[in-house]
Amino acid sequence: MTLLKFQVLDRLWYTREMAQSLPNRWLYIDFNSFFASVEQQLNPALRGKPIAVVPVQTDSTCAIAASYEAKAFGIKTGTPIYEAKQKCKQLICVLAQHEAYTDFHHRILKEIDKHIPVSQVCSIDEMACQLMSNESSVEQATAIAHRIKQGLASHVGPFVKCSIGVAPNRYLAKVATDMQKPDGLTFLSGEDLPHKIYSLKLLDLPGIGHNMELRIRRFGIIDVRTLCGLDLLQIRKVWGSVLGERMWHHLRGVDLSELKTERRSMGHSHVMAPELRGPDKARLVARRLTLKVASRLRRMGYVASNISLSLDVENGFSYQMAASCFEANDSLTFLHLVDEMWKQILEGMGPVRIKKVGVTLRQLTEGSSVQPELFEQLPGSQGREKAERISRTLDTIHQRYGSNSLSLGLLPTEGRSFSGVKIAFTNIPEVGEFEE
Ligand SMILES: [Mg+2]
Repeated sequence: MTLLKFQVLDRLWYTREMAQSLPNRWLYIDFNSFFASVEQQLNPALRGKPIAVVPVQTDSTCAIAASYEAKAFGIKTGTPIYEAKQKCKQLICVLAQHEAYTDFHHRILKEIDKHIPVSQVCSIDEMACQLMSNESSVEQATAIAHRIKQGLASHVGPFVKCSIGVAPNRYLAKVATDMQKPDGLTFLSGEDLPHKIYSLKLLDLPGIGHNMELRIRRFGIIDVRTLCGLDLLQIRKVWGSVLGERMWHHLRGVDLSELKTERRSMGHSHVMAPELRGPDKARLVARRLTLKVASRLRRMGYVASNISLSLDVENGFSYQMAASCFEANDSLTFLHLVDEMWKQILEGMGPVRIKKVGVTLRQLTEGSSVQPELFEQLPGSQGREKAERISRTLDTIHQRYGSNSLSLGLLPTEGRSFSGVKIAFTNIPEVGEFEE
């Protein structure tokens, strides 16, 4: 049920010379066997041993993570424990401690932020950072990567290791993290493209799952090399959608976020602490994120005409839904849309635990373009002016008395603080952001 609409991309073409001159724009960090390595960090008795992290202590369950020592026996995420124990007699099963993993996640973010701002938190163990032009050479990016690894070893723990990938776009930077594990550092720079990815399997590429692989193979595309040889029209036909064009640009190192000449989106996301993963509490977090991003939108002087809500649930599925509205910058309009999307996504899903919540405003323009005659058509029919006035009052109160002093609807008051400042699409922190 992925309902996010992708914009149709401009048709661009790239010569090999252009690809070679693309600077490295993204540094991607992916932690290796994250849950298992946190367990080994916390408990010295588990270090160097084959361990599987399990949700319950029974042989009928599956591993949710495996240490590198266990992986050597062919045990991985999803391996049934009775099977894992046959493969490795010494296997130690450790009960998952989700609270500890979330705690390490926040400590990791704090450490990385000392070396480079985190642009996007992609999951509990994956983060993406944008590189500035004075950070994009192999030497400079290598130095940053080493500082991150050393900082993590000293301040988070030497057993929590990551693979780092550097590339002109976020997609290839992520692909690069998978090319050397554990503790890797891999470049897919412009001059490496496309030949350095020829050795990968089609399934190694994000966006190609088993069904897509079957589809691609039916078109006679048997490896990454043939895939890279397709032109835009061919790849669109193979994919049957504009997603094929996205893949074509991804593989050539085009940074799709750079095609946008102005700021086009801003968002906040949060990885949920285990005690907040029930839908009721997660919904309050979504509302809190909405208020936070709407406040930032107003401070930047923008209006938005699209808002999306994304939910990652514990069974591994992600749900995204986007809603369009008239150009707005008031919290009430966005809260209304988020509530509606929330209802639609969760409808008929049954009991669910939500790992990560994200709210993103898109199609941003400078604030002056709002048309007054559209006010009456906004949801709630209370009038746009009133909604804007309430929102601005909220901003003022937040600035004066702190961000938890007042809110629309109920917000969680227990648990850890969950809306740390994330800086997307810019590396310059704005002071006001810390007040939102
Ligand atoms: Mg990982």
